[in-house]
Amino acid sequence: MKIVLLGKPMSGKGTQAKLLTKRLNYQHISTGDLLRNEVKNESDLGKEAKEFMEKGLLVPDELIIRLLAKGLPEDNFILDGFPRTIVQAEKLNEIQTMNIVVDVFCSDEIIEKRTVKRRMCKSCGAIYGLDVPPKEDDVCDGCASELYQRPDDNLETIRNRLKVYEEQTSPLVDFYKEMGIYTQVNGEKPIQEIVEEILKEIEKVK
Ligand code: AMP
Repeated sequence: MKIVLLGKPMSGKGTQAKLLTKRLNYQHISTGDLLRNEVKNESDLGKEAKEFMEKGLLVPDELIIRLLAKGLPEDNFILDGFPRTIVQAEKLNEIQTMNIVVDVFCSDEIIEKRTVKRRMCKSCGAIYGLDVPPKEDDVCDGCASELYQRPDDNLETIRNRLKVYEEQTSPLVDFYKEMGIYTQVNGEKPIQEIVEEILKEIEKVK
C-alpha cells in the first residue's frame, strides 16, 4: 500500500504517520524531516530550503522534487508532508500510483489552541500539549527536565502557515477526490482512535 497523509500544520499527521508506520511496518517518508536533515548537514539543498522553512513558507517545488529524486520505495510507505502543491501531486502521479490519501482534518481553532499549548523537553525531546499535557506544568514526565515553547509556536506564525495551507495545499482535496482516492478522518479525536480510524480506511482499499 502507498499512502499519503494530508493535513494542516499541527493536525497531528506526523504523529499518526509514526504510529501507522509502526503498526503496519511501513516506511515513513517525511519531507519536513528530510529537509531538516539537509539544513542540519548544511548541504546546498539545505541552505536553499532554510529561509523558506524559517518563514513558514513552502520550499519551491523544484527543490522538493530534487529531494525526492533519490527515489521512493517500491511499495509499503507513508508520505507525510508531501505532496503539498498540485505541481508536486502531478509529479508524484508520474512516478507512483498512490492507493489512498487520508486527510487528518482539524479546525483552525483547535490548531491554534494546540500551537500555544505545545511544549518540548529541553533534554529528551518529548512533546507535550493540549492532548497530552505534562503531569506538572513545564516539567517533563519522563526525565524531569524543564519544558520550553518553540519560538515558532505562536499565533502569528501558525496563522501564516494555515494561510499557506489554504492557498497552496487545500486544492489537493479536490485533486484527489477526482482521482477517487481521497478520504477524511476526524483529527480532533484522541490519538489512538484516529489511528484505528485510519487503519479501517486503509483496510477498505486493500
Ligand atoms: P513539516 O515538518 O512537514 O511541517 O515541514 C516543515 C517545513 O518544511 C514546511 O513548513 C515547509 O517549509 C517545508 N516542507 C516540507 N515538506 C514540503 C513540501 N512537500 N513542499 C514544500 N515545502 C515543504
